[in-house]
Amino acid sequence: MQENAKIFVISGPSGAGKNAVLDGLCAKSENIAQTVSATTRAPRCDEIDGKDYYFVSEADFLDKVARNEFVEYVMYGKNYYGTLKSEVERLTGLNKTVIVIIEVRGAQNFKTIFPESKTIFIVPPSVEELRRRIKGRGQNTEEEIDLRLNIALEEMKQRDKYDYCVVNDELDDCIEAVFDIIK
Ligand code: 5GP
Repeated sequence: MQENAKIFVISGPSGAGKNAVLDGLCAKSENIAQTVSATTRAPRCDEIDGKDYYFVSEADFLDKVARNEFVEYVMYGKNYYGTLKSEVERLTGLNKTVIVIIEVRGAQNFKTIFPESKTIFIVPPSVEELRRRIKGRGQNTEEEIDLRLNIALEEMKQRDKYDYCVVNDELDDCIEAVFDIIK
């Protein structure tokens, strides 16, 4: 691991726009890169294995847990998600500013292991807007939407534990605010 690795952990409820913020950050600097997590969730139609996630079976995931390959991992909804040590090492080794986009429990665990990392919470402008965005993806059943919304409301209560909190009302403003923090 690089001595002064720059690692930023970003959380926010599903639908807060974390991935759009990441895209905006990457467009601003070639030196920013995101870790690719492993998950047991099925890929959405536009997702690519190895780019969006490493999509693995539950048996493979638990095998990686047993081999101590994760910095942190959680069960979120009905699936496992985990940050691979190899991803953090690969990107810090390349001297990149590393972005880790994970949910709140993982973020707290990550911060315990890498106390020098900075945590950023992205908040949607309102609960109504959040529901609209989750529904708008059109890739979740009503049951999944309710489950994600309930998790999101619980996650919002954790925002005070983060080093920074940024509201994603206008996407460009949000990207700018997060970029300022990273700089
Ligand atoms: P999604 O299924 O929408 O891609 O992700 C669901 C949630 O899991 C999001 O909040 C996402 O940031 C989080 N997540 C993705 N990868 C990881 C990971 O490696 N660890 C943890 N703790 N959460 C993750």
